[in-house]
Amino acid sequence: MPKINFCPRCAEPLVTTYDGGRDRLACPDSSCGFIYFGDFSIGCSAVVLREEDNVQKALLIQRGQEPFAGTWQLPGGYVEYDELLAVAVEREVQEEAAIEAKVRDVVGFRHMLGGPSSNIYMIFRLDYVGGEPQYDGEETSDAGFFSLEEMKHMVGVQNISRWGIEQALQTSPGSGLTIDKAGSRAQKWLLFGLEDLDPSIWNPTN
Ligand SMILES: [Zn+2]
Repeated sequence: MPKINFCPRCAEPLVTTYDGGRDRLACPDSSCGFIYFGDFSIGCSAVVLREEDNVQKALLIQRGQEPFAGTWQLPGGYVEYDELLAVAVEREVQEEAAIEAKVRDVVGFRHMLGGPSSNIYMIFRLDYVGGEPQYDGEETSDAGFFSLEEMKHMVGVQNISRWGIEQALQTSPGSGLTIDKAGSRAQKWLLFGLEDLDPSIWNPTN
């Protein structure tokens, strides 16, 4: 059972309730209505590509702190509960590597069970805008743009990062899930969808 005993809203001891096809912990106070669905978290990371000497290179940072200190990974981190995904990933790239980049599309995501929470890890492709890689010597111990060939000779490049870079290199920018124009950063939601849908595929009357 999950390690939660009291209602986070009103501090009543939680009781087991059958809801939505399974037992869940819930607040006995019906005016409160809290139901514990579990712990969920969202991670995000950025594939920022830049061409150097006719070779596409991806931005990597080296972790300065545990866990996995010394390994190389895409810049990224956790999405704050009051922050939109696209804002979060652009912020992490700036904070971790001093690179300005703008979200282009989603090239993949991973859903993972078994950690402290059920985690979705989104991998975005970002367009490089400006800046040179920097690191702070604490959270990050190095940062730079590297080709897949160079990564073969680097120790500790995380597999999921390499996978994301390969996804980005094998597909054209904008072919993944892109921010729909119906969504706006001024609003509290973002809608991601595939572009260039041909209506005749799904609507034979057209
Ligand atoms: Zn409650």
